[in-house]
Amino acid sequence: MKNIVKSRHAFEKAKAVIAGGVNSPVRAFKSVGGTPVFIQSGKGAKILDIDGNTYIDYVASWGPLILGNANPDVICAVSKTMEKGLSFGAATEQETELAEMIISFMPSIELVRLVSSGTEATMSAIRLARAYTKRDMIVKFDGAYHGHSDSFLIAAGSGAATCGVPDSPGVTVSTASNTLLANFNDIDSVNNLFASHKDRIAAVIMEPVMGNMGVILPQKGFLESVRQITETNGALLIFDEVMSGFRVASGGVQKIYGIKPDLTTLGKIIGGGLAVGAFGGRKDIMQMIAPDGPVYQAGTLSGNPLAVAAGLATLKIIKEDCDFYDRLEEKTSRLAKGLCDLCKEKNVPAVVNRIGSMLTLFFTSKVTVNNAHDARSVDKKFYAGYFHQMLKRGIYLPPSPFEAFFVSSVHTEDHINQTINAASEAISAIKS
Ligand SMILES: *Cc1c(COP(=O)(O)O)cnc(C)c1O
Repeated sequence: MKNIVKSRHAFEKAKAVIAGGVNSPVRAFKSVGGTPVFIQSGKGAKILDIDGNTYIDYVASWGPLILGNANPDVICAVSKTMEKGLSFGAATEQETELAEMIISFMPSIELVRLVSSGTEATMSAIRLARAYTKRDMIVKFDGAYHGHSDSFLIAAGSGAATCGVPDSPGVTVSTASNTLLANFNDIDSVNNLFASHKDRIAAVIMEPVMGNMGVILPQKGFLESVRQITETNGALLIFDEVMSGFRVASGGVQKIYGIKPDLTTLGKIIGGGLAVGAFGGRKDIMQMIAPDGPVYQAGTLSGNPLAVAAGLATLKIIKEDCDFYDRLEEKTSRLAKGLCDLCKEKNVPAVVNRIGSMLTLFFTSKVTVNNAHDARSVDKKFYAGYFHQMLKRGIYLPPSPFEAFFVSSVHTEDHINQTINAASEAISAIKS
């Protein structure tokens, strides 16, 4: 067991003044148990905790750090910007540069608006979709995460009810009643909602590759069918690419599958590790936002100079390196294959889903994981054991079985090999 005395102490201290001791729930290690390690610093593929333990980092700040921790070019860009002032609440040229960069990668985006988080991006996108279509209801998929605003914290209603119910106290029943839930990779579930709520659905919002129930890929034709149904019914299609944008490919999932959503939400990588979000899409829709149109949306720190500098520096590196995604893909597929082979060899029922540099190792006896229902079949206890065995061996995985592992450009062959070896020992340790 690693020495985590200082982390234990830090957690106790934090709990006295921060609700639950953390500023975002997953950080508390509730689903894997134990004490969260407190991080002191990160460099490249590694993070260092306050007790002096180092870990190979597969959380990557939950996705943004596609260049690894403390990339020198990103740090340099932020430092230079910082010296000129932290925030003005007025327009800067760099915001335009970041917008141009985003649009150059994602042609479905004609106009964009920068915000400060993915949550703000999705919240604003559905307001806009409702205004544009003059309809109230939205459809989301079971298990998808679109940030923590009320309209998205919705669980499936029981039995025949098609309307969602609040998934958190504090979300009103009336808000929940405007969010309908469909099942990923089940086009009939989407069709049924449109049939039973004719002319009332403003938009379908989806992670075109699910990442927040673990990685789940769309089956052949699924995204195309959703595109078609929304179009036929006069509803908008919103791709929430906060996680997948610039992660699976420069142009996101929409580029890989060749689908053009009406609106796209972004975050994570486009902020290079600082607080950012963005939403954008068709010009005729985006022009409805204030000041050009009547749909209100604003932010004191929107387009913050530091976040924009970090995002721009990150995207420039990606843009200038034509093999960037190929190399990431190659490394991550080796990791995925290594884990998959290992589980077979050790008779551990598992499914590995991967796209680009994101993957999830599901400990399940299902043959495939194609929706939230499949994902929920995972052996949570086994994952908790695996997580701690890996942590002990210096591998920092997401502290929840329903998250993606992220590989960054600075993970080396050696890191991948170390990880597979650690996984082998970890599984043996749990089974013994
Ligand atoms: C992370 C995430 C969000 C929320 O972004 P925050 O910046 O944490 O508010 C929304 N949608 C998806 C798909 C995400 O992965």
